[in-house]
Amino acid sequence: MEKVEDKKKTGMYVNVMKQFNQAADIMNLDPGIRKILGSTNSEISVHFPVKMDDGRIEVFNGYRVQHNNALGPYKGGLRFHPTVDIEAARALAIWMTWKSALAGLPYGGGKGGVTIDPRLYSLGELERITRRFTFALGENIGPDVDIPAPDVNTNPQIMAWIADTFASTKSASTRMLNLHVVTGKPVGSGGLKGRDRATGYGVVASIKSWAKLKNVDIAGKTFIVQGFGNVGFWASHFMLELGAKLIAVQDASGTIYNKDGFDTEKLHNHVGNNKGMISGYPESEKIDNDKFFGLDCDIIIPAALGNQITALNADSIKASLIAEGANGPIDVDGEKILLERGVDVIPDILCNAGGVTGSYYEWLQNKRSENYNISTVLHMIEEKLTESFEKTVDTADKYKTDWRTGAYIVALERIEQTYKERGVFP
Ligand code: NAD
Repeated sequence: MEKVEDKKKTGMYVNVMKQFNQAADIMNLDPGIRKILGSTNSEISVHFPVKMDDGRIEVFNGYRVQHNNALGPYKGGLRFHPTVDIEAARALAIWMTWKSALAGLPYGGGKGGVTIDPRLYSLGELERITRRFTFALGENIGPDVDIPAPDVNTNPQIMAWIADTFASTKSASTRMLNLHVVTGKPVGSGGLKGRDRATGYGVVASIKSWAKLKNVDIAGKTFIVQGFGNVGFWASHFMLELGAKLIAVQDASGTIYNKDGFDTEKLHNHVGNNKGMISGYPESEKIDNDKFFGLDCDIIIPAALGNQITALNADSIKASLIAEGANGPIDVDGEKILLERGVDVIPDILCNAGGVTGSYYEWLQNKRSENYNISTVLHMIEEKLTESFEKTVDTADKYKTDWRTGAYIVALERIEQTYKERGVFP
């Protein structure tokens, strides 16, 4: 029998193609370019052996899907999660192409990962899995070819291991020129100051643009967050800075509620000491997972996995805004219901683009041997996302469509122009 998680994965690819086809129809995308963008350039599957702590050999499955590189090298995260497979990577790679194009970055889209639950492995095993995966990907990645970054369950430490492994396999004279094969590295290893908070900061910058458009004051508004990892924590942190109140959090270990509002830093410390989980946090009430999205609140920030809001729960939502921190958290049927009910949705390819934008500045600073300070980085991210938000809303208005389709059209127009100017080889 198909498991719920399997359905959620399959749904992601179906969704991304439905979204693409809808935008392509409305903007009348060139049929040849539509064919090119409707398929992926390459899909890499690797199987690689790793020695476990007890001496056993295990074989792991890893993937990298490279969707399109018309605008520049493939760019996108690596995920370590049991739901990773070629189809999930394909959907996420396609979203990355649109996200980079919408943000005006010189990148295409890629995504991948390893099918594991990292909680089941020691630090030493995770390091060996990461290094062997990098070695197996070989020349398919590279600073001007395909540049991975952190995603679900991967972090700066894992990026540092990838950079070190990749560079170590190069000749001594070019070794240092290869460390920017990944972004999201620790600051001491070429990482960008502020890359850790870039995605969450961008989510909140998008919410600020929405508030300005709708003439809403964020101070005093209530919000809930699904996922309290990198994106969920930082988005919550910046929402609190604006005076909003976080009243519920859900992660892989359950759902907690506090009508008086969570102290995000205290919860973050708890998660850091509790294997990444919110469970057992004292100043809260544990509630049923199924009640989460229907809670009485103003704003929802999904910041975990795909296909969380569907036709099954969209009717229960009371918030007036959903800001997609995660990739693909709302499926097409769920979004239809939300739009009919007048709920605003800031689409993922716009809302969470602070991450890839931060990654772009990390890549630039590595290429130029420079170091940006954190306030410059956050300012550049906010400026780019504000511009993308305005372009999205204007385009949606022009085509009399929703914001997601508007965002797709901005992205697709940019790629279409590139193909038209350059042509298709030979
Ligand atoms: P993370 O690993 O730091 O955190 C993931 C969180 O999701 C954890 O709190 C985990 O417990 C929770 N989670 C996992 N399974 C869940 C489930 N079934 N129900 C509820 N919660 C669950 O990952 P992250 O980097 O914060 O990424 C979160 C989302 O944001 C992903 O969709 C990712 O693709 C997207 N994203 C991340 C970045 C980035 O820079 N990290 C950029 C853009 C988009």
